[in-house]
Order: sequence, then C-alpha cells, then structure tokens
Amino acid sequence: MSRCFLYWFRNDLRLADNRALTACIAALDAAHDFLLPVYCMDPRQFAMLDLGFPKTGVHRRQFLEDCLRDLQQRLQSKGSDLLIVEGKPEVVLPILVTMLNAVAIYGSKQMTREEVTVEQALENTLQNGLAPHSCDLHLTAQMPLIEKDHLPFSIENLPDVFTQFRKRVEKNWQVLQPQQEPTRFPAFPQSLSFQALMSTPESSESQALESHTSESQALEPGIKPVEIPDSRPALPLTYPGGESEAHKRLQHYFWETHGIQTYKETRNGLLGDDYSSKFSPYLVLGCLSARQIDAELCTYEARVLKNESTYWLRFELLWRDYFYFVFMKYGNRLFQANGLSKTPVPWKKDQAVFQAWCRGETGIPFVDANMKALNATGFMSNRGRQNVASFLSKTLKIDWRWGAAYFESLLIDYEVCSNWGNWAYIAGVGNDPRENRVFNVVGQGKRYDSNGAFIQHWLPELAGLPAHLVHTPWKLNPLEAGLFNLSLPAHYKSPLAVQSLQ
Ligand code: FAD
Repeated sequence: MSRCFLYWFRNDLRLADNRALTACIAALDAAHDFLLPVYCMDPRQFAMLDLGFPKTGVHRRQFLEDCLRDLQQRLQSKGSDLLIVEGKPEVVLPILVTMLNAVAIYGSKQMTREEVTVEQALENTLQNGLAPHSCDLHLTAQMPLIEKDHLPFSIENLPDVFTQFRKRVEKNWQVLQPQQEPTRFPAFPQSLSFQALMSTPESSESQALESHTSESQALEPGIKPVEIPDSRPALPLTYPGGESEAHKRLQHYFWETHGIQTYKETRNGLLGDDYSSKFSPYLVLGCLSARQIDAELCTYEARVLKNESTYWLRFELLWRDYFYFVFMKYGNRLFQANGLSKTPVPWKKDQAVFQAWCRGETGIPFVDANMKALNATGFMSNRGRQNVASFLSKTLKIDWRWGAAYFESLLIDYEVCSNWGNWAYIAGVGNDPRENRVFNVVGQGKRYDSNGAFIQHWLPELAGLPAHLVHTPWKLNPLEAGLFNLSLPAHYKSPLAVQSLQ
C-alpha cells in the first residue's frame, strides 16, 4: 500500500546537498509512495514589532519569495511540486498529516529559540493530537560546514575565543562531501480533497478539517495556499533569490570573474558586486550549503589557484559556524541585554536617536550611507555592518538588540546566529576578547572610502564635495558650503555624538 510523507522546507530551500531531503527520499519507496513538499509562511515571522517595523521587511520577504518560486519550479520540473501555505507549521502540518494520512514528516533541525519552540509544538501535536493515527517527525541539523560530531571538543567546551576554535578545527579538518540532487522524485499527492483545497481555500474540506483539530487549533483559519506571483515587483533587490541563482553566483565569483583570487584584498569593499562573495543570502535560506562552497573551493584550489584569498573564504565560513556553535552553547543568553557578559550594561532606549540611525540621518556620512544602502537594498557590506553596529551600541549606547532587530527586519541574509552573535560581539557583550573596542566611524570611512565614492553614491546631497571634506561635513564653514553650492540637511551640521569622534 502506498504511503504519504511530508517534507517540511525551512531554511534549506534547495534540492542538492539537502541531507534531510535525501534522508526522507531514502525512507520511502519512490515508485509507490507520495511526497508532499511544503513550506509554511508563518504569520509570526511577518508581524509588526513594538519597535515600529515588521519582523520581516519587504526585501527579505521578496528574497524568500524568489527562493520559493525557484524551488517550486525545480520541483515541478521533477514531476513534483511545492505547496506553500500560510499558517503556523505546528497547526498546518498536522492538518495536512490528517488529510493525507501521512506517516512521517521530514525536515531540517534548527536550534534557536523561536524555531525550536515551533518544532516542540509540532512534535507535541503529532504525538498527542492525532491518535490513533501516528506520524513521526524526523529533523536533521544541516546548517554548519563542520558537523557538530566532527568538532574536536564538546559544545560545553567550545572555546570562547574564535581564534582558538579555528585553530583546533583546522587541525582536525573534516568536511562532508556535498550530496547530489535526488535523481528520482516521489509523486506529489494528487488526492481529490487535496486538489479541492488547493483551488478553494475556504472550501468545506478545509472547514471540516478544523473540526479534526484541537480546540485551540480550531481557531486557526485552516489551510490557505499562497501563490507566489510570477514576476518580481520592482524592488531594487541586489540579488535575486533561489537555488538556481545561488549556483549562478558561485559560478560567477569563482569561474567567470575569478573574484575569489583577490578576496582577501577586496573583502572590505563597499560598492559593487564582487568585492566579496555575496553568498550569504543564499546560505541563510539554504539555497546553497557551506559544504558546496567548500567543495567548489577545493576544485578551484586544485585546478586554478590556492592562495591566501581562497583560505580566507573558508576562514569566514568558519566564523559562520562559530556563531552557530556559540548559540548551541549559550542559547537564549545571546538575546539578552547583557549577552554573555556578567556586568549589566545601562543601554539607552532613546527612540528618536534610534530612528535617526535607522533612517540614516545621524549626520555621520559613513554611517548614514551604509544605513541608506541597507534600507534601499536589504544588504550592507561587512565593513558597514561593523561600523553602524558599533556606532549605535558603543557610541550612542542604544540597546544593541534594537539594532539587531532592525537588521533582522531588513537584511536579505538575516540569520539568527550570525546576526545576534555579531551584534553581541560588536556591542561588547559577546565573544570579543578585546575589551571595550569602539570603531571610529569617521576614521573608518576615510580609510575604506578614501575617495568618498560610496558616501556620495548613497548621499547625493554630498555629491558636490571634494573627497577630503565628504566625511566631516559639519566642519564646513558657510563660505565653503556656499562655494560648493550646498544646502545641507540639519543633521550634517550637528551630527549625533560627533564630540567622541573628533
Ligand atoms: P563574504 O565576505 O564573501 O564571506 C563569505 C561568507 O562567510 C559569508 O557569506 C558568510 O556566510 C560568512 N561570514 C563572513 N563574515 C562573517 C561573520 N562576521 N559572521 C558570520 N559569518 C560570516 N551574516 C549573515 O550571514 N547573516 C546576518 O544576519 C549577519 N548579520 C551581521 C550583523 C553584524 C552586526 C555584523 C558585523 C555582521 C553580520 N553578518 C551576518 C556577517 C557578515 O557581515 C556577512 O556574512 C557578510 O557581509 C555577507 O556578505 P558576503 O556573503 O559577501 O561575505
């Protein structure tokens, strides 16, 4: 008798090297069983925050939709499909299980607070809510480059300083080979009731289903399929999402431009496409795995060139792993005001100052240009992120978690561990061994944007200034301002916290 399985896509929106998906396909009989690939648009992820912006902003949502559209098309080309539904996974998935008599749900395991809460709620419903029908939940962790079991120490003994972690990991280097995309895909369930549900969200089937669910779930609206529009709205997203685009980017950065050869020298760049790999958005939604990048690096090193730059990309991927394991060790402490620090920090909660930072109106051109770039594109360079984060938390002394939440809303490459871990690090409550490090954002601007091209790109009001004046417009006297035909907005005349930057 044929059985039905569910594959729950989360931050693993790819077919190749998807170990959880491979495990799922291996467990079923591809000739007879059915597989329903499903993605849940969880409304909690799109809610408004008290800070006045949504948890997921428009850029991030659009990037996600790109990824889902691409995944759907890839699955369709294999004779399958992707059901995208609006709803909480712990509510929607049990409904689908009941409808289809599914015997198991497979998916990726995550380990941060909100994601684990969802997993536990789902597990609970599957164990308690579906009797006599039973359905197993199989979740496989697959985000880092280095498997947890291949670390040369236990998570409790994870070094608190990155360099120690890196050196020990490099000595015991073990990375799994990426897996090929499944060649044969099980059929998509085509039961009548399912078809009806797909075409009429408010159908009697979906209402009937609600009566199968527990009291609290019955309040939920049932299953609402989501259609991702075919064409993308005209948002200036720098990078289109999806597994197909991820492989194009890999191809571009390694084999077409050979940008990888000079990564170490260019990685602090600010303008343009190729100063860094731009793999991060693809990594965070799982369009690409870190193992696939590492395998490509190995091929490149064997066939073309192995140098400090190829090493450095791996080095950066280890930072990503490090924050992942730090979260595994310390869990929710990284969401708290004091982070890993034992000393309480009196963070300020000044909304007006925070809003000026968000809008890119602090009056410090290097900070403002970076924030404008983020607001317009959903992306900011690593150099920019370090500076704006340090400025908000160390110079303005605003609660760093507000800044982290703003990044979460905006960044197309938002990832829980990398974002909150980096923010805590910069704010001085994470894993930085250096005491009280503060970025001098004016000095950094002069160093990394010496000709002012980045600032002038994002702040056209400063475009008329010569490079040596563009970083400190508050120093212009009225005569100079007249000479360059400038009427500067007020924040450039009296920027926030300029005293500490002179
Ligand atoms: P590259 O320089 O080409 O690096 C290659 C890959 O290495 C990146 O794609 C990323 O996966 C990894 N990497 C590089 N630097 C870091 C780092 N410091 N920490 C963790 N991984 C790193 N990165 C995210 O992926 N998601 C986030 O939400 C995020 N938030 C950040 C917040 C702050 C305050 C700071 C300072 C950094 C943050 N980063 C985050 C790290 C880093 O800025 C981005 O990974 C990088 O800018 C992405 O561009 P890229 O892919 O071209 O990076």
